[in-house]
Amino acid sequence: MSNVDSTSRPGSLVIAVDGTSGSGKSSTSRGVADRLGLRYLDTGAMFRAMTWWLLREGVDVRDEAAVAAAAGRPAIESGTDPLAPTITVDGTDVSVAIRSDEVNAAVSPVSAVPEVRARLLDLQRTVIGAGGIVVEGRDIGSVVWPQAEVKVYLSADPDARAQRRTAEQGGTDVASTQQSLLERDRIDSGRATAPLTMAEGAVHVDSTHLTLAEVIDEIVALATGADRA
Ligand code: C5P
Repeated sequence: MSNVDSTSRPGSLVIAVDGTSGSGKSSTSRGVADRLGLRYLDTGAMFRAMTWWLLREGVDVRDEAAVAAAAGRPAIESGTDPLAPTITVDGTDVSVAIRSDEVNAAVSPVSAVPEVRARLLDLQRTVIGAGGIVVEGRDIGSVVWPQAEVKVYLSADPDARAQRRTAEQGGTDVASTQQSLLERDRIDSGRATAPLTMAEGAVHVDSTHLTLAEVIDEIVALATGADRA
């Protein structure tokens, strides 16, 4: 594989999983980390936590200058156990609150603000540290950790993504879920700083017609090859 660093040590392996909203990144990344005994970092949860905090503080999330000025304030911490990942803001568990419709609607504009990205980039690199981790997001293979031994770009048809996300949330309104996913994709792909893109050296996995177990198997096989290199 062209993206394999032959100097990598097994414990230092970093697997970057990027892709569109609802493509199955979280379940896949957690499954891969569990299978390989690696840690897991959900960077989307960090952007969601920042957004939740801004909304709670009454910051106008469409006001880029206000968001930039506040971005340094919340203490965001991610727990990296793939079987029980956690996310806290100033010590408060926000793992449920960050999945609300309000956060869904505001997270992409907030994530487009360069000061937000710079702040979370530092935190993300600190957590990745010496490696041994699966990291999911939008810009992991391109910006956060371009030296990752394994880079995956996960996608799926919008219909499949909306069906899965609606089922996950126990809802029934597939059309409005799809609209929300596509709107986030549009903003995430179009922003100036670290847009969603397929990183150089990434392997594209289309999960539309694959089961979760099949996607996990495919990435585990890539990672096992990377470790042997
Ligand atoms: O992965 P998830 O859908 O939870 O991400 C929520 C939002 O966080 C994305 O739509 C995107 O705006 C932002 N995000 C980002 N860069 C990342 C991860 C997430 O901009 N690495």
